[in-house]
Amino acid sequence: MNLSDNVQFIKGIGPKRAEALTKLSIFTLEDLLTFFPRDYQDRKKITKISDVSFGQHACIFGKIVNTYSQNASATMSIFTVEADDGTGKISANFYRRTSPYQKFDVFAGIKKSFKRGLFVYIYGLCEFRFGQKQINIEDYELTENQGFTPNSFGRLLPVYDLTYGITQKNMLSFIKPVVEKYADLYPDIISGNEKYKTNLMPISEAVKQLHFPDSLEKAELARKSFAMQEFLLLQIILTKARIKNKTTEKINRYQITKKLLTPFKNKLKFNFTNGQKRAINEIFKDMMSGKNMNRMLMGDVGSGKTVVALSAILLAAENGYQSAIIAPTEILAEQHYLTFKNMIEGLNVNIELVTSSSLKSKKKRDEILASVENGTTNIIVGTHSVMEERVKFKNLSLAVIDEQHRFGVLQKAALLAKGKFVDILMMTATPIPRGLAMTIYGEMSVSVIKELPPNRIPVKTYCTTESSAYDKALDEIEKGNQIFIVYPLVDESDNLELKSAVQEAETLAETVFREKRIALLHGKMPPKEKNEIMQRFKNKEFDILVATTVIEVGIDIPNATMIIIQHADRYGLATLHQLRGRVGRGQKQSYCILVSSSRGKNSAQRLAIMTQTNDGFKIAEEDLKMRGPGEFTGTMQHGFPEFKAGDIVKDVDIIEYTKTAAADIMEKDPDLSLPENKNIRLLVSNKKYAQLSKIISVG
Ligand code: ADP
Ligand code: MG
Repeated sequence: MNLSDNVQFIKGIGPKRAEALTKLSIFTLEDLLTFFPRDYQDRKKITKISDVSFGQHACIFGKIVNTYSQNASATMSIFTVEADDGTGKISANFYRRTSPYQKFDVFAGIKKSFKRGLFVYIYGLCEFRFGQKQINIEDYELTENQGFTPNSFGRLLPVYDLTYGITQKNMLSFIKPVVEKYADLYPDIISGNEKYKTNLMPISEAVKQLHFPDSLEKAELARKSFAMQEFLLLQIILTKARIKNKTTEKINRYQITKKLLTPFKNKLKFNFTNGQKRAINEIFKDMMSGKNMNRMLMGDVGSGKTVVALSAILLAAENGYQSAIIAPTEILAEQHYLTFKNMIEGLNVNIELVTSSSLKSKKKRDEILASVENGTTNIIVGTHSVMEERVKFKNLSLAVIDEQHRFGVLQKAALLAKGKFVDILMMTATPIPRGLAMTIYGEMSVSVIKELPPNRIPVKTYCTTESSAYDKALDEIEKGNQIFIVYPLVDESDNLELKSAVQEAETLAETVFREKRIALLHGKMPPKEKNEIMQRFKNKEFDILVATTVIEVGIDIPNATMIIIQHADRYGLATLHQLRGRVGRGQKQSYCILVSSSRGKNSAQRLAIMTQTNDGFKIAEEDLKMRGPGEFTGTMQHGFPEFKAGDIVKDVDIIEYTKTAAADIMEKDPDLSLPENKNIRLLVSNKKYAQLSKIISVG
């Protein structure tokens, strides 16, 4: 068999199970071979029956000396196997539900296999009951003789992710022979390159050890070895892209004419902070250079990234080029649209909103699309809709991606493909872990805005009960301020969860806040309605906005001074910080109130961090340490192929090492034509990696 062959041809799998395995992204022999366990269960030690500890799991081995079944109750039967290992006897039990009307014997199969005189390995929980040593059978393996090597005993047993229709036993039975037979087929890119071999294992050994390790230490070494290969490949692709980008001259030429920038600056009601000034300088320098800009603007929530983006957009417009800024939600896009429109009023530039709602009516759509295509529109503000096929630009030269962590690499590529030499500016308040920064973002320059605009009063954060939160909210409303109340919806499409949020909002409207003006906003509302509610809230037509996390990013309502976050323990810290950033945007003292019903020590500790600091970078660091729900580390959300063994948090050293190694290899052998690089060439052309390299080198 070849690594690219479909798994359905592997013995014991077949079309039906192959179909189930696709749910785990297992299609080919290679996928199965590299479907590494998520954990290991320690079954190395076989405990003597005389030594078992009660209340604990153990593996035992003994000879079957007796078997019998009995009814424990009307609905429960027990089949007992007495095993003896020379040090003592234990009663091992299978439990089965039965009904008095049942005709067949629920233990028929088991009775046939468990014959007196056979030997058995058993894993289960040991107990002492009715004056007897007992073990509840969770797993077993039978044998006729004592010298037999068991499959799932006496070793670290791999624990795999499963899907409907596939058990651990199935998984083990597919993977064990495959690893034994085919692990050697896996191409090794390290061994060929003598110089880059460290004290790691050859790749085939790593594959074997990852599935069936001799020890946990070996498993970790195997993981690192495989990770080394994964990261080296990625770095090779990145290096190739870098070389290509370096040698590509762009044709866009910008000059600072100040035709638009000066009137814009004069109209602003504030001065730029030093951080904003520095960022603008760096961006302008990139744009005016002969190479494409690929820059990330990082700044905490509220640091004023929007006006920095607008400055870049106006530089492009001064030179007759189009810009697009995309945001992850319609609400945010609309908000940017209105902010920009307001800020460029009186200047000779045209702006259009491109979202699924703005493109809904045919007449309006034709108008907008035509004006973008013929160049009448200079600035396009929108959502994912901007990346659709039907949106064509005359001369797009700057793409700004707001809240970039919400977009995947593929989407960014689609946007870049809309123009010829598109400068790209990404903006985020979510700092990127160093390991990730060194992978794909290694190709990117970074500007950081460290300070918040002056006279900002830091938001005060408290953990408290619901009722005292509402008391405080009423005080704020008395002062003419506005309140957000946020309910978590883990899944915006989960109707049950949504219903409970809507119900709680209705209850609030009828009780505590009976006399207040209250509105509800959630992800399932039509975009038009959402925007209308936001707009009315901004116009102070409501005192309270009850919302699901649709308000998480970017919303700017300076008159809102309090955000109450319900079930705060269900959010990651990054999200909490984003939510908190919705207040404290004006001149007034603002509050973030975390309401949590969880008694867990861990969640109390996590929430305490929120009360101690307003620094988004520190929060991200703490979150990373505690390894919350993967908000910062999910490679999928960054549009990467998932790493099989590599871990962008743990493997910073390996990533660093492979970066140098890749540069070295590519310098000596840019076409990867040397014999020792044969396997690299092979893997880079692999479908998965080929797609990635295409994406990275767009533009
Ligand atoms: P974020 O970086 O989170 O996207 P925004 O761009 O939305 O932040 O800015 C937050 C608020 O701060 C906006 O109301 C904006 O007008 C205001 N702002 C931006 N820069 C300054 C500044 N230099 N001085 C005062 N206010 C500013
Ligand atoms: Mg923003």
